[in-house]
Amino acid sequence: MALQDTFFNGIANILRKSRPALWRELYHTMHTIDTDKKLPLYYAIWLNMKLGFLASQRGRRTKNLVKEIRRNLFSALVNHSDQTTIENYHIATLEEKQKLAFYITWRLHSSMTYSHPNIYDNLQEVFFHDSQEYERTHKDPTPHGEYNTKKGTVHYYSKTFEMDLNELLNTIVHEYIHAMQQNSESILPKKIINFQKKHSKAYWKTPYIFRPDEIEADRLAGLVLKNFDKNFKRYKQTNNEL
Ligand SMILES: [Zn+2]
Repeated sequence: MALQDTFFNGIANILRKSRPALWRELYHTMHTIDTDKKLPLYYAIWLNMKLGFLASQRGRRTKNLVKEIRRNLFSALVNHSDQTTIENYHIATLEEKQKLAFYITWRLHSSMTYSHPNIYDNLQEVFFHDSQEYERTHKDPTPHGEYNTKKGTVHYYSKTFEMDLNELLNTIVHEYIHAMQQNSESILPKKIINFQKKHSKAYWKTPYIFRPDEIEADRLAGLVLKNFDKNFKRYKQTNNEL
């Protein structure tokens, strides 16, 4: 057997063995969530991190949701009647870019609610903020965007518009995934969402990169934006809506 085959067989064996172990671990963690009504804070943080790590978004449902969001995002980009396009985005003014973000967010929402009517109320308003103003009053660096779960509002910060269009679209999709998570219309299991809501103190103490809902939003937005240019060209060719 060639050395390379040995190497790949080794990798395959590890994956075959560790995957069922991961699912067993996830099952046990879920069981703890079900039975433990009062968890100590440190343990709730630890469980949160484990759930974020274990509940990775793969498989057919993920693929289909990513495709659905990408299709609706492209359709919003193709159909908006404004002068700002993906070709001239980099020279557009802040106001023009914000107008585009506003349009895409609402258009994405209205097309997603066709197949996910539950999320209709999860987007109430879209706001734009100055990053510099944010930095004057906060210790943390400005986020690109924010989703307010209580009010159902999406917030975009001006720093995001200084970057390229991909960054903006990534932010739009990321915040939209948070809106979908409210009714478990994304991939993240309902139990995990409920756990995060129930143990909100532990949630806020869990580092951002380990929070299950952030991991999902990052991963799905990343998948939607993957190979954006190539896919968008193909979409435009087959949908002559321009
Ligand atoms: Zn987020």
